[in-house]
Amino acid sequence: MASKGRVFSGARPTGRQHLGNYLGAIKNYVALQKDYDCIYCIVDLHALTTLDTTQNLRENTYEMALDWLAAGIDPQKTILFVQSNVPEVTELHTILSMVTPLGKLTDLPTFKEKIRENPNNINYGLVGYPVLMSADILLYKANAVPVGVDQAPHIEFAREVVRTFNHRYNTNVLVEPEMKVTEVPKVLGIDGKNKMSKSLDNHIEIAATPEETLQRVMKMVTDPARQRRSDPGNPDVCNVFTLHKVFSSPEEVEMVNRECRRAGIGCVEDKQLFAKNLNAALAPFREKRAELGRNPDYVFDVLRDGAKRARVIAQQTMAEVRAAIGLF
Ligand code: ADP
Repeated sequence: MASKGRVFSGARPTGRQHLGNYLGAIKNYVALQKDYDCIYCIVDLHALTTLDTTQNLRENTYEMALDWLAAGIDPQKTILFVQSNVPEVTELHTILSMVTPLGKLTDLPTFKEKIRENPNNINYGLVGYPVLMSADILLYKANAVPVGVDQAPHIEFAREVVRTFNHRYNTNVLVEPEMKVTEVPKVLGIDGKNKMSKSLDNHIEIAATPEETLQRVMKMVTDPARQRRSDPGNPDVCNVFTLHKVFSSPEEVEMVNRECRRAGIGCVEDKQLFAKNLNAALAPFREKRAELGRNPDYVFDVLRDGAKRARVIAQQTMAEVRAAIGLF
């Protein structure tokens, strides 16, 4: 089938991926490969904006690439690469920063949030985060960018940058990307309250062993109102039940829903069943990951080859950008 266009998406290297990353991003990345020419990028330069993501960059990049590949990113078709391996993005970032009013950046809700989160490290790069993100997208002339709604202001920002740039230099070199809003399910952590996140240590790694997975699942908070085994529970407020709907059969989901409400099944049994199904669903991924992990050079080769292919596109775009501006 003909490609519907070019998709670009990136994520910072956060190391081994968790269920939130998997359900919120990776699964969609894999699915999009069917209809689009996809470019997926591990944005390591973006990681330098905050201190906690600056450590263990190489290891985190490798582990993340391993997870993405094992989950089904196909490097024969898709370009998978590391942002800093295509340095043209920093040149485009500089150029785009000259058509960006500072107030636009400081007004963004995401910037205000970052300031709140990193009061001791409000750096220049943090302000320019959306400019670098725009450079990522525009360098590859992506038509569609799959993002959660929280990222919508950044895509709108990128579109405005395109219009300003093209208008100022009387060109149509840069392409306005369409936002492809994904229904990103917000996966809650084992605390059943906060978004699953590595920094909160409330996560379940998809590459964990079955035993580790069971241990983490047994710690999951269920319906807080259910104190004793004999109390009926409410699956509607139970994070385990939400995830059952993703990983268990319709019959099991129906059974848990029914039995929990009349205390026919306890939280321990319920979590054991969920862990069993989760482990079964992730088994092929884990096998593939172990196989790929035996040959780290393969992963490095994929990333190097991805950067080479990405760079061809990037250099072409930059030649057009320089010509449009009239750089010497
Ligand atoms: P970044 O900030 O670079 O996007 P994250 O590690 O926060 O890196 O997220 C990577 C991807 O995984 C993003 O697309 C994000 O929406 C998704 N993601 C992360 N955590 C969750 C979660 N708990 N639920 C759903 N999606 C998530």
